[in-house]
Amino acid sequence: LSFSSCNLPQKLLQNIEVAGYDVPTPVQMQAIPAALMGKSLLVSADTGSGKTASFLVPVVSRCANIRIESSSSQRKPLAIVLTPTRELCIQVEEHAKLLAKSLPFRTALVVGGDAMAGQRHRIEGGVELVIGTPGRLIDLLTKHDIELDDVMIFVLDEVDSMLQRGFRDQVMQIFRALSQPQVLMYSATISQEVEKITSCMAKDIIVISV
Ligand code: AMP
Repeated sequence: LSFSSCNLPQKLLQNIEVAGYDVPTPVQMQAIPAALMGKSLLVSADTGSGKTASFLVPVVSRCANIRIESSSSQRKPLAIVLTPTRELCIQVEEHAKLLAKSLPFRTALVVGGDAMAGQRHRIEGGVELVIGTPGRLIDLLTKHDIELDDVMIFVLDEVDSMLQRGFRDQVMQIFRALSQPQVLMYSATISQEVEKITSCMAKDIIVISV
């Protein structure tokens, strides 16, 4: 498998090339084609495996294609990436910006520590991807400052760490605000807790371990 055989938008392929990704890593080879088909995944992969691009490439591709095909001026979020920490969210956003350059794909960071007004303003301006920690996203949801009814891809990065930090109920609350999204779960270890939350969110999940 190569990136160019994946039927990705031309500009995304160019951005992948500029990033210096010549061949997909093992986790990317397995996750990208399945995620592009709309399958839900449980992926056990460590940092350094190329896991971030393994969910961002399909997220950018599917979201940008929708915007290219539809002329609607409404740009409610199409995808969410949840991570356990602000720092990880910032890294994921930088990576997403690199891959989405010149595409109709905007991101909003929804994390604690920054003023909520700025985040709300950015979302109102229209975004495709929201990257956040569970707590701040719940704050926006509760105040009706974000509409999640168009979200079709829900990514949970480092689920094991989110569960360890006690985010289970908040993650489930966000999931319940969505209408049957594709779920992409990433975890360093697949514990019983991880399996449990996975089975709550998706049937027919594909398990990938590298
Ligand atoms: P991650 O596992 O997502 O933290 O990624 C680890 C590092 O691998 C990051 O610096 C990425 O930019 C890089 N990377 C991701 N995919 C590839 C690829 N296909 N080829 C080369 N480097 C990559």
